[in-house]
Amino acid sequence: MTSWTIANVRPWGAAPVDLTIDGTEITGVRPAGTARPDSESVDGRGLLALPGFVNAHAHVDKSWWGQPWVSYGGEPTTQGRIAHERAERDRYGIPGVDGTVAVLREYLRHGTTATRTHVDVDLGLGLRGIEVVREAADRLDGAIDVEIVAFPQDGVIRRPGVLDLLDRAAQAGATSIGGLDPAGIDRDPVAQLDGLFEIAERRGVGLDIHLHDGGELGAFQYELIIDRTLRTGLQGRVTVSHGFALGELAPDRQRALLDDGGEAGISWATVAPVRTAPLPWRGMAERGIGIGLGTDGIRDLWSPFGDGDLLRIALGFARLHGLRTDEELTAAVELATTKAAPFVHRERHDLVPGARADLVLIDAQNVPDALVRVPPRALVVAGGRVVARDGEVLLNA
Ligand SMILES: [Zn+2]
Repeated sequence: MTSWTIANVRPWGAAPVDLTIDGTEITGVRPAGTARPDSESVDGRGLLALPGFVNAHAHVDKSWWGQPWVSYGGEPTTQGRIAHERAERDRYGIPGVDGTVAVLREYLRHGTTATRTHVDVDLGLGLRGIEVVREAADRLDGAIDVEIVAFPQDGVIRRPGVLDLLDRAAQAGATSIGGLDPAGIDRDPVAQLDGLFEIAERRGVGLDIHLHDGGELGAFQYELIIDRTLRTGLQGRVTVSHGFALGELAPDRQRALLDDGGEAGISWATVAPVRTAPLPWRGMAERGIGIGLGTDGIRDLWSPFGDGDLLRIALGFARLHGLRTDEELTAAVELATTKAAPFVHRERHDLVPGARADLVLIDAQNVPDALVRVPPRALVVAGGRVVARDGEVLLNA
């Protein structure tokens, strides 16, 4: 195994260290100037070092990143977006390997070294999207860790045959299966959730459910999810994505749901969109409800927004939640890195011996300074390899 050193970097803004990397792992963290210099050493120039970003909610299969601009069309409702995407996606080669590679390269350029991605599974595509994403990840030779959620974007119960597709996806190695507004889209929340939990329990996969439904309708579905999680023994393996309703509830109702959600080990993925209610993030943290940050889709047929930079999402989270102190701003960056480890099934994800060598160097005074300025990434190391430098991806694919 080749061993090399990144000399003189400041992990999380602390005193300078030399990081030793063997193969794909960090194996040593020593005070700067004490590591044995070798020909492979990289001078970290005293830059701020963070672990690679973890994108906990993405859709890498359906972006038109890298293609000429696509103007927004269709209706702005969830069903409107679903219908528009189904009508237009073929025209842009979605899902396609080249487009997916373009998105993953952009993630790497910004320092994201692991992602959980939802991949559309529907009656039109079958499981083709999953094959596309796997091929794209292979083209990048595993530089970015890609975990797949088989996602029924077009609904479940209202589309007979989709449950069977999800079952096949789980059998074929998807880490989780998804769901979508069991009430708002399927209009039969019990049937959708019973179907999803039955597959998860039988196949031993996780669940990650898109829930846009607001207010009491959303809360009712959290209750259904919590109840089924406890009954099936899937504690710690169920994620609610978006879950906008949680921030909208009255304090008592919210507290009771947090208590029950904590007991069931539910986690939450958010992209912290503007014009949504802030999440009770401190109460969630106190109860061990994990929060992951995601980009969601970028430049897709749902929305023209998004550039794939997770640090920018962390900044959005900080602004939406009114964070200001150094401690709070650092907490937002932790959500984008170390604290997101469970979303990609890692035991630990940090600049410590034994962790995968995923790190980002940034020219910033400290973590809060990096968060509020979102500077370009000076160096990105993924799985022990330098994959981007000064904003340019170095991989061929
Ligand atoms: Zn999504």
